[in-house]
Amino acid sequence: MDNCIFCKIVRGEIPARKVYEDDEILGFHDINPQAPVHFMLMPKKHLASLADATTDDVGMLGRILALSGRLAREHGSPDGYRTIINTGRVGRQDVMHLHVHIIGGPEPLGRMLPRAGT
Ligand code: AMP
Ligand code: ZN
Repeated sequence: MDNCIFCKIVRGEIPARKVYEDDEILGFHDINPQAPVHFMLMPKKHLASLADATTDDVGMLGRILALSGRLAREHGSPDGYRTIINTGRVGRQDVMHLHVHIIGGPEPLGRMLPRAGT
């Protein structure tokens, strides 16, 4: 996708601090971290959101989740972390290229969600 910012990262047109790369998946630090550890894992293939995933994407989605624990440990979140997939308007997704946030650090995070609507 020409104008997708995450596709530009995949193509090397925008720099990113990579944490992982293979043929299918790219991981990189979030430019605006919400916790001491905050990186994202995403398919290199453009897929707008989780709501657009099909059974063809099951393997990729599973491989992203299966990678998350090792990468979180390696990047400073040894005792757990949170995965977030913001999806669509209601999920407040800003970048319309499916990505999984991995958020953590040495200490527990805040509550899962503020009260809805705030
Ligand atoms: P979401 O609201 O789930 O779509 O989150 C998009 C995330 O992408 C935000 O946390 C941004 O800080 C992050 N982001 C946007 N542009 C970049 C970039 N060029 N490099 C790294 N992270 C980015
Ligand atoms: Zn894209």
